[in-house]
Amino acid sequence: MNNIPAFEFATATRIIFGAGRLDQVPEIAASFGKRALLVTGAKSAGTVADSLADMLRQKQVESVRYVVSGEPDVKTVESGVQAAQAAGCDQVIALGGGSVIDGGKAIAGLLANGGTLLDYVEVIGRGQSFSKPAAPFIAIPTTAGTGSEVTRNAVISFDEPKLKVSLRSNYMLPRVAVVDPALTYSMPQSITASTGLDALTQLIEPYTSSRHNPLTDMIAQAGLVHARSLRAAYADPNDKQAHEDMAFASLCGGLALANSGLGAVHGFAAVLGARFAIPHGVCCAALLPYTLKGNVDALLRRAPASPFLERYRIAAQILTGRNGADALATIDTMLQLIVSLCNEMKIPNISEFGVTEDQFPSIVEQAQKEIGRAHV
Ligand code: NAD
Repeated sequence: MNNIPAFEFATATRIIFGAGRLDQVPEIAASFGKRALLVTGAKSAGTVADSLADMLRQKQVESVRYVVSGEPDVKTVESGVQAAQAAGCDQVIALGGGSVIDGGKAIAGLLANGGTLLDYVEVIGRGQSFSKPAAPFIAIPTTAGTGSEVTRNAVISFDEPKLKVSLRSNYMLPRVAVVDPALTYSMPQSITASTGLDALTQLIEPYTSSRHNPLTDMIAQAGLVHARSLRAAYADPNDKQAHEDMAFASLCGGLALANSGLGAVHGFAAVLGARFAIPHGVCCAALLPYTLKGNVDALLRRAPASPFLERYRIAAQILTGRNGADALATIDTMLQLIVSLCNEMKIPNISEFGVTEDQFPSIVEQAQKEIGRAHV
């Protein structure tokens, strides 16, 4: 037996998983109070949000709708806080993709702590800590990618300078995460593809991170097993099993990243997503195979006996089902699998969003700083 290193693990207070579990939200919300800010996307949550509002009303919880369209920025979050204050909300419920959940999470944090976003955000803000727990926050993902329902940060886009920066606090861990795979059935194929590859990235990066721990290892490995269903989920929106697998893989990714951090793919994605209009999942998908190859090549050059090579091999073995002794061949099979998934699922090349080669040096320079922060 190896020694178990000291570690810490934090997550949402309560996690509820299963198709149809959205119906548990009203009772939980009623235990938090009488008036909820219901944060949704501009179009994605449509009828589901309406029926959730009805179900909340039946439990004597009034909801005030607040729309987060696109990745949240300062105005979105601060206007959301004002809307919640004006309506006397005692809790925040976010129903949507990672953008909506991050928006709701930041609103819940700021609602309880006061001040402006710039008082608290990392890097370009004053970086103050929250002193109080966020307002009760229920996170309900409708994509299977970010795992934001169990993380302590919210990614906020800034215009000047163009950056994606996290608001981060243990006090922002959601009170309840309700992962209902049925909410992801409506995703168009392109969103299933890009968010699914984000989930895959968020399983591999914490597993191969220097901050890995025994709990996140178990979780990442379980998530990788289920992430094998990405191709099936993409091929058939009605494949409930495959969507359930991807919702679980995404949840595992969130649990792992929140406790073991991320890597170079997310460092680059934070820069590319801020400077160009590239959706987060597309950034991760486009970068994943090449960044993994770069990492493995660097290990081979600098530390061929490194135990991290074995971690890449295990991840590859789980993902591909290839059970060979040859580590490099197994890793190579994984890289080929990811490239062919990107091609089959028509992940756009980042050049389609205006990224040109002459911008590479400045992107690399900025990403090096982001990687140091293990950004999400
Ligand atoms: P998203 O929330 O931006 O949604 C992408 C698109 O999918 C939107 O147009 C949305 O309306 C649509 N959509 C969402 N659910 C749908 C559904 N069920 N049916 C049909 N359409 C649907 O995308 P995302 O990838 O989930 O989130 C990305 C954001 O999350 C980025 O800002 C990223 O930085 C952030 N992120 C946060 C964390 C964290 O831990 N806080 C982790 C990873 C990523």
